[in-house]
Amino acid sequence: MTRALAAVAAAIMMFATASSAEPVYRVETEQKVVAITFDDGPHPKKTAKILAVLEKYGAAATFFVVGKNAEYYPDVICEVVSAGHEVANHTYSHATLGRCGADKIEREILSAEESILSACGAKTKLLRPPEGSCSREVMNVASRLGYSVILWNIDTRDWAHKGAEEIVENVKKNVRPGSIILFHDYTVGENHTVDALEKVLCHLSEEGYGFVTVGELIG
Ligand SMILES: [Zn+2]
Repeated sequence: MTRALAAVAAAIMMFATASSAEPVYRVETEQKVVAITFDDGPHPKKTAKILAVLEKYGAAATFFVVGKNAEYYPDVICEVVSAGHEVANHTYSHATLGRCGADKIEREILSAEESILSACGAKTKLLRPPEGSCSREVMNVASRLGYSVILWNIDTRDWAHKGAEEIVENVKKNVRPGSIILFHDYTVGENHTVDALEKVLCHLSEEGYGFVTVGELIG
């Protein structure tokens, strides 16, 4: 395949991914960029610590927010937006969407959208189904509501209380241009997310990676 044809094929592949016919795990790109993402916030303590680390490295990130948490902590979600990060939809009640019918899926997405919009004025257009629980129904409803469904290709497993070093090794081994990396601003029990984030950003910066939002990554 000639270089020109390869470029066209890559562009078509990116378009196909971004059209939300299928969930996006990673984006094909030759640019050395990754999208760092945080699920389950906002959290009254952890989110501020995450914002401070992101600021130190000049990194943009995407926060997949639970609608009811946006209602509990509107000030925190406003800080995320003011810092220039992207806010996205992680359902209203952290529902396992893959087990829900179309009506429930739609309610979960739209209720979260409304809560986030009234908390911080941001209209969401990216959906991450909790636990990555997806189905054809989820894809159809999301697409009808104008949402792209975003998963990840690197799970840091911070939710499983992995140590910072282990998280960094996992990222080093699996990172590629266009990677989408999953962290959490809230997990049940202690986690090493903030320490691990600092180490990951430090390593990836040294490797020449830039940090973009998912919206920027999928174009
Ligand atoms: Zn979640």
